[in-house]
Amino acid sequence: MSKIEVGILGATGSVGQKFIQLLDNHPYFKVTEVAASDRSAGKKYSEAVNWFLASPIPSDVAGLTVQTCEPKLKSHLIFSALDANVAGEIETAFAMNGYVVVSNSKNHRMDKEVPLLIPEVNPDHLELIKLQPFGKGCIVTNPNCSTIGMVIALKPLADKFGLDAVNVVTMQALSGAGYPGVSGLDCIDNVIPFIGGEEPKLESEPLKILGTFTGREVKNYDMKISAQTNRVAVIDGHTEAVQVNLKTKPSKEDIIKVWKEFKSIPQELNLPFAPLNPIYYFTEDKYPQPRLHRDIDKGMAVCIGRLRECNLFDYKFIVLSHNTVRGAAGGAILCAELMKAKNYL
Ligand code: NAP
Repeated sequence: MSKIEVGILGATGSVGQKFIQLLDNHPYFKVTEVAASDRSAGKKYSEAVNWFLASPIPSDVAGLTVQTCEPKLKSHLIFSALDANVAGEIETAFAMNGYVVVSNSKNHRMDKEVPLLIPEVNPDHLELIKLQPFGKGCIVTNPNCSTIGMVIALKPLADKFGLDAVNVVTMQALSGAGYPGVSGLDCIDNVIPFIGGEEPKLESEPLKILGTFTGREVKNYDMKISAQTNRVAVIDGHTEAVQVNLKTKPSKEDIIKVWKEFKSIPQELNLPFAPLNPIYYFTEDKYPQPRLHRDIDKGMAVCIGRLRECNLFDYKFIVLSHNTVRGAAGGAILCAELMKAKNYL
């Protein structure tokens, strides 16, 4: 099978590098173009990028010349890892010029006709593409990195028991702030109790993702969410303490059963980046932990533990997911794999 050529916008950044690492030897996709800001354009990728991942830069990408982010690329499929200050307009320009854009940035996530996609949770929302005004082009977005982990944990509960209210307190990794991100003096021996713009995303995005596609629009899921977000001195992996009120209160065993049995379209289609099991439940009180468990199943699984009854809500538990893999590049690659399987590419 000949591979689909892809371009990466924001290829020099934290998520851009992760795309390049994860797409090395991908069975469907091949990175043939990289683009970033004027600071990097014109340089060889290996010279423009401050590569900080453990594996070397793939040799077929290292020598590519970094291009500007104008819709003049040859690839039809574009992964965007652009800074949110510029992503909105650039992604629109690409879609208007007939490109398929799969984006990690926040800018288009809440647009009415743009799928906010987690392939295991709302694959039917891809049909929103047909309502977009871009002709052959389109925009599909990947949710916020903390939202993805939490919503995968919530989806089986929403389907089986119904959700009424969710409270979440996050402990988010430093890599979520991009590179160089938070200064060493700020983060060592410290917890920073504020991440700009993060709480509104966690309080709004799940309602769209868990919402119902009517054929013309997505009707938001009806529940209340309260979020508090913190930056902690972990390199990769967001941990979230979640409390839920359910419409019908199941036993603890019933909840663990629906989590363990949860599989969806990406697993049925055996997509390359789909985890075998989207959810891993740990019975040990001390798990999940970011350093130990963030890489489970290619970094695409969501780890859950410590399910217990709560004095304020029905239940509480801990969720862990890899923010730059499941929460960014890996999640976006899985979106594109699903789009290929459903003939959207
Ligand atoms: P980052 O490390 O700061 O990288 C930003 C990228 O955007 C770089 O390639 C940069 O190119 C490029 N860029 C900046 N200004 C530009 C301009 N004017 N024109 C064209 N390109 C420009 O950020 P990141 O952490 O990778 O995040 C990228 C996006 O993904 C953001 O929207 C972020 O919110 C989102 N996201 C991040 C995570 C995460 O865990 N890090 C998770 C989910 C979503 P130069 O190198 O040339 O400056």
